Amino acid sequence: MNELKKMYIHGEWTEATKSRTLEVTNPATGEQVGIVSFGDGADAARAIQAADMAFSSWSKMTAAKRSKFLYTLSELVRNNKKELAGIVSAEMGKPFGEALGEVMGAADNFLWYAEEAKRVYGETIPSTFPNKRIMVLKQPVGVVAAITPWNFPVNMVARKIAPALAAGCTVVLKPAESTPLSAIHLFELIEEAGFPAGVANLVIGDPESIGQEFLQNRRVRKIGFTGSTRVGKLLMEGAAQSVKRISLELGGHAPFIIFEDADLDEAVQGLFDSKFRNSGQMCICTNRLYIHEQVAEAFTAKLVERVHQVKVGDGRERGVEVGPLVNEAALTKVLGHIEDAKAKGAKVAVGGNRLTESEYAKGFFCAPTVLTNVTTEMKIWQEETFGPVVPITTFTSEDEVISLANNSQYGLAAYVYTQNNGRCFRMAESLEYGIVGINDGSPTQTQAPFGGVKESGIGREGGHYAMEEFLETKFVSFGI
Ligand code: NAP
Repeated sequence: MNELKKMYIHGEWTEATKSRTLEVTNPATGEQVGIVSFGDGADAARAIQAADMAFSSWSKMTAAKRSKFLYTLSELVRNNKKELAGIVSAEMGKPFGEALGEVMGAADNFLWYAEEAKRVYGETIPSTFPNKRIMVLKQPVGVVAAITPWNFPVNMVARKIAPALAAGCTVVLKPAESTPLSAIHLFELIEEAGFPAGVANLVIGDPESIGQEFLQNRRVRKIGFTGSTRVGKLLMEGAAQSVKRISLELGGHAPFIIFEDADLDEAVQGLFDSKFRNSGQMCICTNRLYIHEQVAEAFTAKLVERVHQVKVGDGRERGVEVGPLVNEAALTKVLGHIEDAKAKGAKVAVGGNRLTESEYAKGFFCAPTVLTNVTTEMKIWQEETFGPVVPITTFTSEDEVISLANNSQYGLAAYVYTQNNGRCFRMAESLEYGIVGINDGSPTQTQAPFGGVKESGIGREGGHYAMEEFLETKFVSFGI
């Protein structure tokens, strides 16, 4: 029997006020992997109070001291990488190797922001008047409430809380209810790193009630959210009531464009990275593949051959490249997109079904799938699929494909494969996306800005850009 795991508020492990619990299961096998205390808005209020009490001393601490806590945490995450990655694989099905990569990414984020904490610079500006001096201060915004999804249950947390803590903010985190165990282990490391009580708090529980508390509590000055566009819009509306700062990392619908002059083998690998990693459950996943008609047949044949080689299974098994989907609802949605496409004339080049035989019987497995003859009326062409399915269509000219790719309410990531230098620049400048991978199917790096335009979000994570999200700019005028 798994022991009850708790929330972390004001430096103590604590049960939910209403004593409810939540069972966490492995989506590959259905087995219970943990049981956690399941709170609500009342617990969020306690956590916000703790964060508010800790803010004064944490924000006034020297940046060098804050940096040391983050540096220690980064080392602890690195030293515990296998344990953390094992938890990620067990609670959301991610292949272990990928989970290790995610955890190392989190360690890199804590290290990056340990350094960034020391580089919060203000400014002096020459005044118009001889008897005045202008000074600009950068100060932490205050208590930050962070809400994260299940698809990167360690690194999404790191990307939010590391820059917030570096800037001098205190935080309350609500992780996804499918993946609380990764967040709990990360907070065990936060405790071990010796952060003062109340600086970082963890609440797990009812999303609506906790979300409402985050929105209505005036002590919260900033909301950082990663998740669906639907919930992002709700939070943005709610944040308007008390004019809270908000940053949103929302859904994507990435186009992947392959020109006739592309290296097709590299394009297959790039597509594989951007589509099948995390079983296609990434916001920057390819969701629409545009291939120049001259090379469509050759590329599709290479892609299908590669997809046939994929090993699907429990993320904890050696050699598995594609794990299960996170839950039954996710699988139903992906299969629904495939069926809708087939009914409207798409052809299945490989896959196209749920895997149910022997070891797959208890999990939420979808066969890696390639669909051709896909058209714009199909759901898969309009909505984020979040699964291991590649829908393919063809194009004939650069102008045509730019217009097709930009015809979306989303604007997170786009990919282009070409060997024409001029075209690389034209495409990078013309695509209405926050991230463009040119001959690169996995562009994310700690130091680079990450975020979307249009309904894919507001604000940026990553590098020095994230620091601005947690800082206020204060103008001080001196009469002398
Ligand atoms: P989701 O349903 O929006 O959930 C994300 C988080 O919001 C979870 O912690 C969830 O809690 C919480 N939540 C749900 N309803 C809420 C409410 N009414 N008020 C406050 N919080 C609420 O998204 P998801 O389906 O889990 O995650 C996948 C989505 O995230 C996809 O659209 C993907 O593209 C997007 N995503 C974006 C990025 C990016 O950087 N742009 C990165 C990763 C994922 P529960 O778990 O308890 O429901």
